[in-house]
Parts: sequence; C-alpha cells; structure tokens
Amino acid sequence: MGKGIIVHLRSMYIDIHTHLNLRAFDEDVDMVITRSLDAGVRMINVGTQVETSRRAGILADQYEAGVYATVGLHPTHTSSGFHDAQETHGEHDTDPGEVFNYSVYKELALHPKVVAIGECGLDYYRDPSDEDIQKQIEVFEQHIALANEVGKPLMLHIRSGKKGNAYQDACSILKQQARVLGDSHFFAGSVEDAQRFWDMGYSTSFTGVLTFTHDYDAVVQAAPKVLIHAETDAPYATPKPYRGTRNEPLHVREVVKKMAELRGVSIEEWQAQLVENAHTLFGV
Ligand SMILES: [Zn+2]
Repeated sequence: MGKGIIVHLRSMYIDIHTHLNLRAFDEDVDMVITRSLDAGVRMINVGTQVETSRRAGILADQYEAGVYATVGLHPTHTSSGFHDAQETHGEHDTDPGEVFNYSVYKELALHPKVVAIGECGLDYYRDPSDEDIQKQIEVFEQHIALANEVGKPLMLHIRSGKKGNAYQDACSILKQQARVLGDSHFFAGSVEDAQRFWDMGYSTSFTGVLTFTHDYDAVVQAAPKVLIHAETDAPYATPKPYRGTRNEPLHVREVVKKMAELRGVSIEEWQAQLVENAHTLFGV
C-alpha cells in the first residue's frame, strides 16, 4: 500500500474551500494546518487573485500530503472596489482590481497540487455596474478556457443580487463553454438554481452557515449524494459553536455533522461519502 493511500484512508474530512493563503492566517498558518491534518482534515486553499493564488501553491508544496490549491481571480477583484483587510496586504481602502493575465495563471495552474481553477464566476451582490458585470463575464470566460486547456475543474463563486439571478447566468455560460466539471461554492440559491448545476453534473458545496440558518436545509436535502461537498470558506462564515472567532478548516467537522443530521444519515457514512465526492471531482 502506497503512502498516499494510507493518507486517503486516515483522512476523515476534507475542507474543499478554505483560505489559509490569506492575510488573516499570516501569523500562525503552519499551526492551523498542522492541527487540521492531525485531526484528519485535509484542505484545498483557494486563490482569490494572483498573489493569494501563488501563496496557495506555496503552502501546498510545504506539506507532503493533504494540502492542495486552486488558482483564480475572484469576480469582485476584476474591477476596483472594497478592500478586505483580512484578505490581502492592500495599502488603500479600495482594491484597485486586477487584469486577468492568462499566461501567469496558466503557469500557476499547471502545478500538480493545483486541483481546480477559481474561485471565479459572477457576483451581483455588491450591485456592480453593467460595465463591471461585463468585465466579470469576460474574466469568467477566461477561467473556463483555462480550465478546459489544463483539464482541471472549476471552483465557482456565484452570488445573485439586484442585477439578477447570477446562478442562471453562470449556468448558461458554462453550458456553452465549459468542457470540465466544477463546484458552485458557498451555495446560496434555491433548489431550482441548484438543480441546473446538478443536471450538468456540477456539485454544490455548503459552509458553516448551515449551523445558524435553515435557509439552505432544503437544498442540502435535495442534492444528489454524489454532488455535494462541505467547506469552511475560512476565515469567514464560522459555524456554531465557534461564532465570533476566526474560522479554520478544523471546523468543517461542524458542517459535516449538520449535513449528516439534515440528510438523516450517520456522521461516519456522510464523512465517507464526502471524502469520496472530493476525490471524484478534485482527484484528492
Ligand atoms: Zn472563498
């Protein structure tokens, strides 16, 4: 039995979308990773712009197994706007926005521990202008082209708002252009929105939000058992009973527990299902 197989069997959890590559973890990232891996929690650190994408790959390289990365430009970083001090070392109150450089991201994407392209997609939540939405669409299409070229799945960030149903818009773009599968992370749409993804073979993933609202219970219950994942989106979206503290991959256990309860299956059975699902989509 190879070493990788032993890790796979011992690992009881995988947090498929987390951000230990962000500034919020600068001080203690090694400790946070070590306590996760010791508890059998593997993780995928998700890039949000070029620097955090690069950092996700560097972190993955530092561990023999159990730490993976994605590379991409978050839709809210495609134009200037709000700067999140937990995310990057910005010097200003506003984020200047980034132009998607295909060849730079392609080089990062070819890293063997990069298991997906994103987070990418459409975000209508902060009421972007029509011009900003156009930019988001163009950058999203470039990510799809990159995912097609390197043959890796998409890590999608989609959020609706006043400008419309972003899930619906994203699905029509994916249907026309994507030749890879993907996951709609932090799913916050309706069962009908989710069904469009499931019909395409795409999965939906859920965070600690499940522990403090019932808004997504019906979606979690309706999901095909092979098209669902658990994630933390740390440092954000801390689950109960850790509300008010910085989130971390270890807390994916609370998300898994809540999902198992909603689906009426044992935690052990659900853990095994989710480990299998992550393996199928991301090869981890
Ligand atoms: Zn995220």
